[in-house]
Amino acid sequence: MDNYPTSGKIAAKTGPIARVATPSPLPYSLDYRLTEPLIDGKIPVIGARVKIQLGRRYAIGFIESFAETSTFSSAQLKPISALVDQSPLLPYDLWKLCHWAARYYQHAFGLVLQKAIPVLLRGGQVAKLDGKQFATATPAGRADDALDLLSRAPKQAELLIQLTATRCSMAGISERKQQAALRELRTKGLAELIEAPPTPPEAGVGTHPAPQLNTEQQSAANRLKQAITAEKFAPTLLEGITGSGKTEVYLAAISEALANNKTALILLPEISLTPQVIARFRERLTVPMLVLHSGLNDNQRLTGWLQAREGLAKVVIGTRSAVFTPLPDLGLIVVDEEHDTAFKQQDGLRYSGRDLALVRGQLLEIPVVLGTATPSLETLLNAQQQRYSHLQLTERPGSARPPAMQVVDIRGQQLQGGLSTSANNSIRQHLASGGQVMLFLNRRGFAPVLMCHGCGYCAECDDCDSRYTFHQRDGKLRCHHCGHQRYVPGKCPDCNAELKTHGQGTEQLEQVLADQFPDVQSVRIDRDTTRRKGSLESKLESIRSGEARLLIGTQMLAKGHDFPELSLVVMVDADQGLLAADFRGSERFAQQLVQVSGRAGRAERPGEVVIQTHRPQDPLLQILLKEGYSAAATKLLTERKTACWPPYAAVALLRAEASSLETAEAFLLEAAKLIEHQDLSLAGPQPAPMTKRANRYRAQLLVQANDRKVLQKHLASRLQQLHQLPGAARWSIDVDPADLY
Ligand code: ADP
Ligand code: ZN
Repeated sequence: MDNYPTSGKIAAKTGPIARVATPSPLPYSLDYRLTEPLIDGKIPVIGARVKIQLGRRYAIGFIESFAETSTFSSAQLKPISALVDQSPLLPYDLWKLCHWAARYYQHAFGLVLQKAIPVLLRGGQVAKLDGKQFATATPAGRADDALDLLSRAPKQAELLIQLTATRCSMAGISERKQQAALRELRTKGLAELIEAPPTPPEAGVGTHPAPQLNTEQQSAANRLKQAITAEKFAPTLLEGITGSGKTEVYLAAISEALANNKTALILLPEISLTPQVIARFRERLTVPMLVLHSGLNDNQRLTGWLQAREGLAKVVIGTRSAVFTPLPDLGLIVVDEEHDTAFKQQDGLRYSGRDLALVRGQLLEIPVVLGTATPSLETLLNAQQQRYSHLQLTERPGSARPPAMQVVDIRGQQLQGGLSTSANNSIRQHLASGGQVMLFLNRRGFAPVLMCHGCGYCAECDDCDSRYTFHQRDGKLRCHHCGHQRYVPGKCPDCNAELKTHGQGTEQLEQVLADQFPDVQSVRIDRDTTRRKGSLESKLESIRSGEARLLIGTQMLAKGHDFPELSLVVMVDADQGLLAADFRGSERFAQQLVQVSGRAGRAERPGEVVIQTHRPQDPLLQILLKEGYSAAATKLLTERKTACWPPYAAVALLRAEASSLETAEAFLLEAAKLIEHQDLSLAGPQPAPMTKRANRYRAQLLVQANDRKVLQKHLASRLQQLHQLPGAARWSIDVDPADLY
């Protein structure tokens, strides 16, 4: 690590052996021989990509260090096949970040490095940003007598005249004959190709001036500006109620960073859901902005990454993986909606984008802002223990006020499509006074259960421990866990009696509302209605334009949106969240309730929230309504402390899956024997809460320690042996799991 060549400095000392971080799951690097004379006359450096033979295939790895000796003899070692880069591919802070991630998440360094770079670079493509090529006339081509030489080549003469007047992009010389003419002109020394410097990503338009910040926003912005100029690691929780204008505070801080010739990185949970947020950044900033969204193809991704690395992007906005974007002079990282579990990667390298943002901030000694209305318990505890500074925004700007909350006790009530009379009346009232209404139901499809009225048969997925969801529009039963689908049987396959649905999904809710409010246009936003490209954008637009006034949606509609005319939010089934079984279930519910409610009353129209539940006296619900999120979070923190759960303990989940439960559990039993230690407490092996999924049986082992360092140390010390355990199970380690499912 110490020999990492920082810009311009190339470490001359190399050994005859290169340790290479390879794209293999094994938790150590492999030795390769550096042949003499050096390949292609290039000097190998730490951090450069190399082509190597890995098993029977060729792969791209990174030189991690050099060594004089190896435990293998020179004859046993394979040579490095080719040097891909002549300098380190990643800036030093990212290299170190990857190293940290590998150790913390118990993942092979080589795989972390792969994760950190665009797909095309993983394949060995040259890391160079190509400028656009132009053809132009040379001085000889511009000389007075140049055209005389071409009296018998009219095509060439024509092109030369053109190239003397102006340079011409290669796309402009598309005709065969013209291309031939250009070749001739170049051979004659009359024309040449020049490369323009690479272009930066598109700049923001800066059409909107910043609003006058209110006192709280201003003081939060000032604190962040100080932190930026101080050039110190400054983790900061910006806790601002929904609609309090956190984005304006970010923008003020970003402007300060830019004014100091620094760049800024903004991480969002999901970009595609909130195109509006990006639009706001574009309206306000005038610097080149790189937006890393999921719609980019491999080439665009590579270009963006290289633009960032070359310092051409001044602001980068992206989802969790954008934490790996190389950015010279990075001066500020913002993590918006830091509590959102979308920051946690759920497969492969199971990292938290938020936590890596903090690590990167620490490595670079810069401020990291975690913004949210509903801080995660982890972040809240850090703020309480003064490891993070804590800034607060407690009011909405202008005349906007937080919404009034109302609980509707639906026990014993007649519901129509899941809606109580009282909720129905509220909807009617708000529509009559010109407001928009949002119904939140986190369950897509028509109904979650299709059951036989005669014998109680339930339509269940063959491959999972799960029921099929009934989708009426296309007459299908779908498993939401494995994607399996089939046509709805007309009658019960067991007794031939009639099949009936139970419960409601968004598809049904949409129909019920269409019946009751036939004159009001509605829009449903869930994964089923937004599959087609552009459909989410057009739906959001119909909300913003006021065309659609009844909005039905899952969590896709619950986050981050700012709809000024939205005055009523109905939480159709709060029980779903209140009964969640996971250890983070209550925290999730509290965050969801506050976030969903926060969509109402964001401008002049006063907002109202109606919460339907069978458990109106639920203590968590009560405390949320009476005292708000902070009080609820404090109560949840106390419970976590008593139960020794994160953030008061560190946990990792070892998951295994196989074609039988026995195989999966047998692996974990061996793993448990290996890991066992007095500093750790183990729970399991036990079947996963959803044991069978997509025809695989899943089991898990929970490993718990008092703190992260202890957990990390013990896992790391056993990792190699874990990889050597026999058995046919596929397994993974999830450090700081988002949930235990
Ligand atoms: P948050 O992200 O905290 O939920 P936003 O940043 O989306 O809130 O701001 C909510 C609304 O208030 C937006 O429409 C924004 O333009 C507006 N807003 C924010 N700050 C101000 C301000 N100081 N003056 C006027 N309007 C503001
Ligand atoms: Zn299934």
